[in-house]
Amino acid sequence: MMTEKEITDALKYPCQAWDAEPCLGSIYGEEEIEAAVAAIRSSMNFKEGFGFSSEPIMEFEKAVAEYVGVKEAIAVNSCGPGQDILFRYLNLQPGDEVIVPSINYDSAPLAVIGAGGTVVWGESRASDYLLDPEDVERKITPRTRAIFPVHIHGNSAPMDEYIEIANRHPHPVYGPPKVIADAARGMGGDYKGTKIGKLGYASSYSLHTMKNMTTLGEGGLVVTDDSDFAAWARRVRMYGRAVGAWGTSNVMTKVQAAVGLVQLKKLDSFIANRRRVAAERNELLADLPEVSLPINGRTDEGSFYLYCLTLCDSFAGEKRDMLIKIMKERYNIACWVANPPIYEVSPYLAKMVKGTTPFSGKLARKIICVPIHPAMTSEENRYIAAAFIKCVQDLR
Ligand SMILES: *Cc1c(COP(=O)(O)O)cnc(C)c1O
Repeated sequence: MMTEKEITDALKYPCQAWDAEPCLGSIYGEEEIEAAVAAIRSSMNFKEGFGFSSEPIMEFEKAVAEYVGVKEAIAVNSCGPGQDILFRYLNLQPGDEVIVPSINYDSAPLAVIGAGGTVVWGESRASDYLLDPEDVERKITPRTRAIFPVHIHGNSAPMDEYIEIANRHPHPVYGPPKVIADAARGMGGDYKGTKIGKLGYASSYSLHTMKNMTTLGEGGLVVTDDSDFAAWARRVRMYGRAVGAWGTSNVMTKVQAAVGLVQLKKLDSFIANRRRVAAERNELLADLPEVSLPINGRTDEGSFYLYCLTLCDSFAGEKRDMLIKIMKERYNIACWVANPPIYEVSPYLAKMVKGTTPFSGKLARKIICVPIHPAMTSEENRYIAAAFIKCVQDLR
């Protein structure tokens, strides 16, 4: 941990005001601007225009599939619609269940409800906030059609464990429940020698402005090894007429895909820098008795989209909220809570989904996410760690 002198020195650094989840999660340069301009120029030809499934989109899909190590990547306008398309393909019948962790963003449970399924809330485990395989084992029934984990902070959920459970509990008609992941925050991360997104039936990434890489602020991808689904999805993203299915417009633009190709080339360097910040900070905060480090201090696999500490019991709830308040007031560093059980903050989901997750509810009171970003310098990181230690000491 930092000494008193180190803390005082670190706090002299003129650190910029960081958000826990900065509004631009990646880094843009001249290359992205040039790619966007070139895509616009080529669209000025009346015969070509902005195209339908034009070349940069197909090239981007191929590059992503290769990067992740899957057969197919389908570019869409946003991660949530990608999940909607996936769950519509499952043809859920009334009463069909999907296990979804409550510590989550809105989009996964909404996709299940939108496709006519029943959400069954799963508990997350204390060590990493990921859907607990033991709770999946408890909640799986003959009506379970899918298990839908989220890589919540950009660290991979234990996909192999869910797949193993699914295989032991096949649905009487559809076979083993499909394991589908919300990888919105996980793009570029690793899991046991594979890329986050490779394992399971399919995964959906977000290219929203806050995420690990972005295509001009919006965008998403679905990745899978199922070529039949991929062919269906490419038609359904254009109103579905060609496959006789309900659809709407979920296409990515050519300009976005051109920028995506540039961002994809930089993704590994973004993730390496996120891991650098996490590793430095782990060292600076090690031995601070009030916190446990993210995923027990491991920094070699996760995408570190968020850097999430677990506070001790005496700092849970109100004291955690006070810590967030004084970090902002005194040091201009915005921490936040990702994520409380989603039904606690979404009245719609509270109304639509029965049941709660008491364990996750308690767990979420100890979450605090501290800013992280690939462009954060080591000096800024030291300032943030010093500020955090100071605030914890003051609240002791
Ligand atoms: C951002 C996010 C989404 C939604 O992504 P969009 O591309 O905005 O649709 C879904 N799930 C998680 C976990 C997210 O963080």
